[in-house]
Amino acid sequence: MYKSDYEIKKELCEIGRRIYNDGFVAANDGNFSVKIDDNTYYVTPTGVSKGFMTPDMICKVDGEGKLKESNGPWRPSSEFKMHLKVYQERPDVKSVVHAHPPIATSFAIAGIPLDKLIMPEAIIFLGAVPIAQYGTPSTMEIPESLTPYLQDYDAILLANHGALSFGCDLNTAFFRMESTEFYAKLLFYARMLGGEQEIPCGEVKKLVELRKEFGVPGKHPMEKLCPGCYAGDDTCAMSPTDANEKYGVESSAAYHGFQPLPSQVCPTPSGNADIEAIVKEVTKRVLEQYNK
Ligand SMILES: [Zn+2]
Repeated sequence: MYKSDYEIKKELCEIGRRIYNDGFVAANDGNFSVKIDDNTYYVTPTGVSKGFMTPDMICKVDGEGKLKESNGPWRPSSEFKMHLKVYQERPDVKSVVHAHPPIATSFAIAGIPLDKLIMPEAIIFLGAVPIAQYGTPSTMEIPESLTPYLQDYDAILLANHGALSFGCDLNTAFFRMESTEFYAKLLFYARMLGGEQEIPCGEVKKLVELRKEFGVPGKHPMEKLCPGCYAGDDTCAMSPTDANEKYGVESSAAYHGFQPLPSQVCPTPSGNADIEAIVKEVTKRVLEQYNK
């Protein structure tokens, strides 16, 4: 459905209010944009609280981030370079959101990626969230730090800074920011309660199959990172982290020479059959003890 320029600007203001009211940004922080075509984008202005924007403040820019129409005192965010990088490398993306949600940002400060497979909704709709290397805001350092992750993820933590999420429209990009923060909150609480129990590899495979059935748009790292499960073993009972420690498999990030190595890797069914048999037997015995 075609949306008028004014409707798009109004939607950006509405998402700004939600992001601000959710506490995902403080003061004038954060920026987000919508792509119309390769040379037309709407982007939030710099120096304005995203909770108090009006449609006239939204800037219309070209493929280099330059204003296409004069816009009173309002100037586009200097972070739009980071958005452009995503648009250039991911033609499926039509909207980018950058914010500083406090718990996810704390993980980005602690250097802990959100890559534990702990909750079905997060696995189906979000995937995992890696951390891109630190860069100075408004320089090309941040856009360049995203490159290793853009083909496999729809949300990325920025080291010591915040989070970036993107999708096929503004709502999808915003929901991924919301889901990232919710996931970080769950992982944080679970760790306060003694640590997370991950969903076993075989079950993760079923969730990724569900994602396909639901037709969720975007990218998901699991198929590359879980080659064993994708080769057909859906009975693997190991936690993805244990499997990763046992069988290091190259991730796309490692391939590009970057760390961290996301943790969700399963054993390949060929060659590891004996180990899996042992794991299954141990699991069976533990469950027998547990059920006594
Ligand atoms: Zn920021």
